[in-house]
Amino acid sequence: MQTKEFKAESKRLLDMMINSIYTHKEIFLREIISNASDAIDKLYFKSLTDTSVGMKKSDFAINIAIDKENRTLTVSDNGIGMTEEDLENNLGTIANSGSFAFKKDNDLGDDVDIIGQFGVGFYSTFMVAKEVTVVTKAFGSDQAYKWTSDGVEGYTIEECDKPDGVGTTITLKLKDDTDDEKYSTYLDQYQIQSLVKKYSDYIRFPIRMEVEHT
Ligand code: ADP
Ligand code: MG
Repeated sequence: MQTKEFKAESKRLLDMMINSIYTHKEIFLREIISNASDAIDKLYFKSLTDTSVGMKKSDFAINIAIDKENRTLTVSDNGIGMTEEDLENNLGTIANSGSFAFKKDNDLGDDVDIIGQFGVGFYSTFMVAKEVTVVTKAFGSDQAYKWTSDGVEGYTIEECDKPDGVGTTITLKLKDDTDDEKYSTYLDQYQIQSLVKKYSDYIRFPIRMEVEHT
């Protein structure tokens, strides 16, 4: 697959990508971790010039938590967060997110993972989740908001509490397992560790996971 083919035939490419993505559902984790990292970057850069942020580089981190009983996977960051307006604009529609945007600045080699070259975005969470909840508090805001969606019917936004402060917590309620798809594999800490290693090794902030000691 050559780079020039991508540029010329975007429609065919999109079809191919969507079909391929369905065999690469695991990339949802890369997408939410990369968003968490982007959000932390924004607050970190702000902290360099704005002392009211009151955080140093080592304070920033991404946390992953698995809840097997409730079948949820949660990724939290203490980045810049989102206002109610941001939630509307950024998560409201696929069109307004970076979903399906081709990162054309990548240099594609012959044996590169093609799907790995796409930023498929927040919406990829709905490949594995039947419900996604985003609890977020923007830097400079006193009010937190909760966005919830099944990725099909639409979404709701309501005010909520977020006692742990500025940042964003994304909770994926995983789909039920079927004969073909074992979504509960994303509730396995070793599987998550290996996906983080595979796709998110380049992230410049610590990625931590609460592990079960049984
Ligand atoms: P992209 O990252 O390419 O912009 P995404 O679909 O991944 O597209 O995300 C859409 C937007 O949602 C982001 O640009 C950002 O504004 C917002 N967003 C997503 N996750 C977070 C997060 N953890 N913290 C703050 N904003 C976020
Ligand atoms: Mg993104």
